[in-house]
Amino acid sequence: MYKLIHAMLALLICAALATGTAAVSAQSSQPPAESASSQQSVNADAKPMTLGELRRKYSETFKFSGPEVKQIALTFDDVPDPRFTPKVLDVLKQHGVKATFFVVGHRAKKHPELLQRIHREGHVIGNHSYFHPLFKKKSVDEFKNEIKRTEKLIEKLIGYKPRFIRPPYGEINEEQLKWAKKNGYKIVNWNVDSLDWKALDKNKVKHNVLSTVGPGSIVLQHAGGGSGSDLTGTIEALPDIIRILRNRGYRFVTIPELLHEPKSL
Ligand SMILES: [Zn+2]
Repeated sequence: MYKLIHAMLALLICAALATGTAAVSAQSSQPPAESASSQQSVNADAKPMTLGELRRKYSETFKFSGPEVKQIALTFDDVPDPRFTPKVLDVLKQHGVKATFFVVGHRAKKHPELLQRIHREGHVIGNHSYFHPLFKKKSVDEFKNEIKRTEKLIEKLIGYKPRFIRPPYGEINEEQLKWAKKNGYKIVNWNVDSLDWKALDKNKVKHNVLSTVGPGSIVLQHAGGGSGSDLTGTIEALPDIIRILRNRGYRFVTIPELLHEPKSL
């Protein structure tokens, strides 16, 4: 009986994969110049690699942490947002901490002065796409367009093209990673998740960070969000997180400092 179920499952999975492959090949058959890489994408997408596999295969491009020294990089996603970003900036300024902010293009378009403030106060800007899509479901062209559109806007506002990209939800596929690698970008995820987007209170945000952080950690927090989001917990937890980690002997650095890479292309 179990054998029969297994055989049926295997058939179902094969059918699903075949359908997926057909859809991908139909989508990616357009530009003749890229037909070789499209062919690869059909093969790759037949069995998509997990983030862990991608991380191992592209360890020079796909980063989750830095070298194990007593440094920590705080990162703030989904900026700029006039409700939360200025408050996060105020706390960082009070404590003399420089961080890395991952910018959503359409928000920067609406609040250019806020992006300029982040830059002026010595923080590093990274690219977090234009409309915040789930990239692993998108084509390489869509990925490229989202990155380039945001990059152009950032360059116009602060004068450089960010090398560091954080894909929304930390999700990316192999073809997109290959494109990023070829074009000199670094994809930066995290190994400490504050889960602050869940509108957690100060103590929970603090606990999530302090219980998992270590040498070379990249910490994910947010300084912007959707219409219903509340990042009060993040803002209130930040002074304690900074104080406690400094007492443990850590230094706060930006992503380019942690990874020893230039911030711009
Ligand atoms: Zn995001």
